Amino acid sequence: MTEKIKLTFLGTGSMIPDEKRNHPAFLLTYGAENILVDCGEGTQIQFRKAKLNPGKITRILITHWHGDHTFGLPGLLRTLATSGYRKKLMIYGPTGIKRHIYEMFRAFGGPEGFQIEVKEVSGKFFETKDFYLAAEKMIHVQPCNAYSFVLKGSTRIDKKKLRKFHIKSGKHLAHLKDKGYMVYDGKKYMLKNLTFNEGEKKVSFVLDTLFNGKIVPFVSGSDILVCESSFSSEHEKLAHEYKHLTAKQAAEIAKKGHVRKLVITHLSQRYNQHPEKILGEARKTFKNTTLARDLEVVSL
Ligand SMILES: [Zn+2]
Ligand SMILES: [Zn+2]
Repeated sequence: MTEKIKLTFLGTGSMIPDEKRNHPAFLLTYGAENILVDCGEGTQIQFRKAKLNPGKITRILITHWHGDHTFGLPGLLRTLATSGYRKKLMIYGPTGIKRHIYEMFRAFGGPEGFQIEVKEVSGKFFETKDFYLAAEKMIHVQPCNAYSFVLKGSTRIDKKKLRKFHIKSGKHLAHLKDKGYMVYDGKKYMLKNLTFNEGEKKVSFVLDTLFNGKIVPFVSGSDILVCESSFSSEHEKLAHEYKHLTAKQAAEIAKKGHVRKLVITHLSQRYNQHPEKILGEARKTFKNTTLARDLEVVSL
């Protein structure tokens, strides 16, 4: 488990891009996996600027079908086709994504030379021995998902707990790991009561959504939470009306969810000249907050 997770912020703007902030797109790399979260217009150019190869994308996770999160898809898929992409590309999204992708293919033509599979997902939807991906339904103007990438840690025997229960080392501990429980001296012990998890890492993405009770449990324990902060609290009414989060709400989510680091993104263009206003507001509630910048890379 020495492999690092690398997160590249390809686009950190919102509805209207400017010279500093492109439309939303985030690339999470782990080993051979290159998972793109959202694909705003110009994402393929951002790949080039970041000196990354879009041909290595393995999965695309779409939060919702608003243009700022999806207008880069037809161009990116066309580039993949013409540059020899021959893998099967998985695209995941909320309810309705299949129809949207189908309509996009009807308008612009489907992929040529490679296969695309589209899945409407919620809950844990993809798992390998090292990591899993999960989705949770958010509340926005249209169906929207939040996503988490969770690198599974390894289960380690807690020696303190063994001493506490007067359990000696031996084959029974292998049984505990295999079966999830063991019987020792006539007593049954569950795996979670004698072990701890080491090295689990979690990165969560919460894009356009109204503040809601599902967010904190979903992002709980994240090492990095990438979260939209479209508005400041003085525009809380607007945030509610357009179904977005304020900086304060994003910070409250990070605090309640015991997140290690909050990275805010998707600021409304009204804060273009003063993004520190949003950052300052979030930091009042959750100190370890940064404002995402285009082409910034974070490793963990
Ligand atoms: Zn958006
Ligand atoms: Zn939206």
